[in-house]
Amino acid sequence: MLGMMMHRPLSIIEILRFAAQSYPKGEVISVRTEGDLHRTNYADTFARVGQLAHALQALGINPGDRVATLAWNGYRHFELYYAISGSGAVCHTINPRLSAEQMTYIVQHAGDRVIFTDTTFVPILEGLKDQLPAGLRFVIMTDRAHMPDNTLDALCYEELLDGQPTSFDWPELDENTAAGLCYTSGTTGNPKGALYSHRSTLLHAFGCAVTVQTCLREGVRIMPVVPLFHVNAWGLPYSAPLTGASLIFPGGALDGASLFKLMDETGVNSSWGVPTVWQGLLDEIAKQGRNPNGFNEVIVGGSAAPRSMIEKFETSGVNVCHAWGMTEMSPIGTHGLLNEDMKTRSFKDQMDLKSTQGRRIMGVELKIVDENGARQPHDGQAVGELYVRGNGIISGYFNNPEASAAAIDAEGWFGTGDIASINEDGFLLIQDRAKDLIKSGGEWISSIDLENVVMSHPDVASCAVIAVAHPKWDERPLLVVVPVPGKTPQKAEIDALLLQHVAKWQLPDAMELVDALPLTATGKVSKLTLRQQFAGYKLPDMD
Ligand code: AMP
Repeated sequence: MLGMMMHRPLSIIEILRFAAQSYPKGEVISVRTEGDLHRTNYADTFARVGQLAHALQALGINPGDRVATLAWNGYRHFELYYAISGSGAVCHTINPRLSAEQMTYIVQHAGDRVIFTDTTFVPILEGLKDQLPAGLRFVIMTDRAHMPDNTLDALCYEELLDGQPTSFDWPELDENTAAGLCYTSGTTGNPKGALYSHRSTLLHAFGCAVTVQTCLREGVRIMPVVPLFHVNAWGLPYSAPLTGASLIFPGGALDGASLFKLMDETGVNSSWGVPTVWQGLLDEIAKQGRNPNGFNEVIVGGSAAPRSMIEKFETSGVNVCHAWGMTEMSPIGTHGLLNEDMKTRSFKDQMDLKSTQGRRIMGVELKIVDENGARQPHDGQAVGELYVRGNGIISGYFNNPEASAAAIDAEGWFGTGDIASINEDGFLLIQDRAKDLIKSGGEWISSIDLENVVMSHPDVASCAVIAVAHPKWDERPLLVVVPVPGKTPQKAEIDALLLQHVAKWQLPDAMELVDALPLTATGKVSKLTLRQQFAGYKLPDMD
């Protein structure tokens, strides 16, 4: 027997309409490319989003069309998220850190009709223009006074909105209608597109709202440093207005000093971003000898947060939530918030839990499987490839049947490519990416474990551990270190530190000092490039 309840399609624009009515004064503060700090709220944003939807219509954008953005975190980018999807088109966020080749590929693959760009990225588009499809239009996200000279024949964002009515007759869309498109950073092969729907986006936002309650609530000021141009800024453009939290957008200045200043000025409570960014902020905090005004929580993810970083924040009174997720998952899968019982445990026990990737959010199921696809127990011991299932997770890649077939297993779960264990309480511990685990003599060595420990050495600025082919053991670990300026870390000292945490046979066979580590477009260490750089490396016992 079926229930007898109304079926109203889940729709993204409803989030903003709800915020405009329930939290009209919820703030949206942005560092603009114009150089100033811009302040608005959810009620005024909803009105401008209506104007923008009219402007899109005037540009000839039809339902299903892909409209791209190439922009920092700011209020205009936020407006585009809603106006594009609300009018039935698809908001394709482009990562400006992609290579020219990858950017050209995804614009073509997505079939974008218009690109909305910040002034910062105009030169990139000018350089690519000849390879991009004919007929592609460009809109520069500023006012007439700040329009740069350009060869794009570009339109001006504020002029498009000027004089448009603030109310728009939002179409009633099937909730499975595509709403957003984001390509993975594509560390191997061509980037692949995750195509989100209205339904998946709302269910993910609800899942985050009921799970991450420390900050997703009215009155809290959240700063997404995680970009709107990648992984939907971890869903904050949706979950923050849904819950009445305010948004502080940092624009393009993401160094520790700029973030500290912005946080201080605007009273940011909760900051979301990758470990690299928080290292910069921690340095600034150490320099100033205090936390920014009102700062009490950091959500860290995108790559593993070193335990030393978590402890530094926690001992200075900042609650750390270590989260894990993927572009393909909308993106949040797990969070590291502790329940009341866990908060009564010793500091060490709490740090043990917080150093893991935490527990699943509502709506995400996790399983780990061995090489044959057999499920492994959630006992904290068994390690396997992590698979996920849920309404916010892709069922395949956009226009890519081959990659889609490889991504989903026979039971309909998505393979993350991460190697993990899960304990009895549901805490996920990511051991590594499948391709980054080091298998030595049939035994696993986790490069993440080694890196976490090495990062706590005072002379180490950053590091990575990669596998080097070895005639006897198949693979052995090589440690690559970027030293703190003026310091020369010694391998013997690092080994001694490591030996407090890992077995002797797991110690890196060699250490190389470098000036910088290669990064992917999303700012993570590119192990692929590093492995290429050290291909054929001779370890000491290989002469
Ligand atoms: P992306 O789609 O670019 O966000 O990359 C997702 C991948 O980043 C995941 O599959 C993990 O390999 C890695 N990742 C994300 N968050 C974490 C985390 N907290 N700890 C370890 N790895 C992470």
